[in-house]
Amino acid sequence: MNQDLEKLIELDKIGQEISRLKDEIATLPKKVAEIEAKLNTAKSQVEAAKGAIKNQEANKRKFESDIQDWQQKISKFREQSLSVKTNEQYKALMTEIEFAEKHIGECEEKILVGMESASALNAELQKAESELKAETAEIEREKAHVKSVTAEDEKRLAELNKQRDSIRSGVDSTMLSHFERIATKRKGAIAEAYDEKCGACNVMLRPQKYNELLSGKGLATCDSCGRILYADPNRLANKAPLKSNEKIWYFLPGAEENSGRFALFANSKGSCSVRTYDAVTGRLMEKTVKKKVGFREAFADMFTNGLHLHPEHLDMHQDFDEQLPADVLEEFQLQAHISTVPAAQ
Ligand SMILES: [Zn+2]
Repeated sequence: MNQDLEKLIELDKIGQEISRLKDEIATLPKKVAEIEAKLNTAKSQVEAAKGAIKNQEANKRKFESDIQDWQQKISKFREQSLSVKTNEQYKALMTEIEFAEKHIGECEEKILVGMESASALNAELQKAESELKAETAEIEREKAHVKSVTAEDEKRLAELNKQRDSIRSGVDSTMLSHFERIATKRKGAIAEAYDEKCGACNVMLRPQKYNELLSGKGLATCDSCGRILYADPNRLANKAPLKSNEKIWYFLPGAEENSGRFALFANSKGSCSVRTYDAVTGRLMEKTVKKKVGFREAFADMFTNGLHLHPEHLDMHQDFDEQLPADVLEEFQLQAHISTVPAAQ
């Protein structure tokens, strides 16, 4: 593989790790803020419970002092009743006493109800206080965790930045600027191409582009997402046995018009072969066999300027040892735009 490309792949990995670390560093304080918000809720619950208890106590004191007032009035009425002259005056005082006793009863009732609610309020306070305690402990833990993770991330980030700078300085500047332009727009500026597709956006590549990639010539980018593409020879080698019976036909143009070869690339039992036939006469020109390799890798440079032919509708099951049959030759010439003027034969 092209050395610059290898460096760009490394840069891409580093760049992605850098942005992951930056994201992590940015989200850590948010986590602390979330727990702090929870802590504030617990704090205000404690305050509310304390306030309600205080309120309830103040009410109780007010009712108790009311009772005292009414009791003093009753003693006064009783005293007066000893010195009244008429029955009417006595009756009036008794009515006043009755009225006061009714008020005392009401106050006592309210104090009782208040005492019941006080125990509920105390339970609430206790619950809120223990929640607050737990959350205070949690935020301390989380803050310590965030601090240590942030420190680690920042250390790693500094290392990666250094590494990135040193790799950058060794890459061809045109390639580097192209890479950086894509890297600002895409997460992952480099993608592996396989199965004739861009591994990142899955869009099919033009056959010529894919073949260029396989031959390792120049810098290819995906027409759809713009990422820089590479092909991994190991993947191709590993993949070859899977498609052990794959056959494809290509037209390989010659230097002059109406010249060239039709080529049959085939994989078979861990080896591969290419047979070429003259594009005008259909006669076998050459046969090459290579072992322990697939044709896409072994003959990658032959694909570069070739045209993928499609004889699917013809009977292609026989081996064409010496000569392409007339119907096949005619179809290929049609697809490759080879005109067969008699003089050329
Ligand atoms: Zn793509």
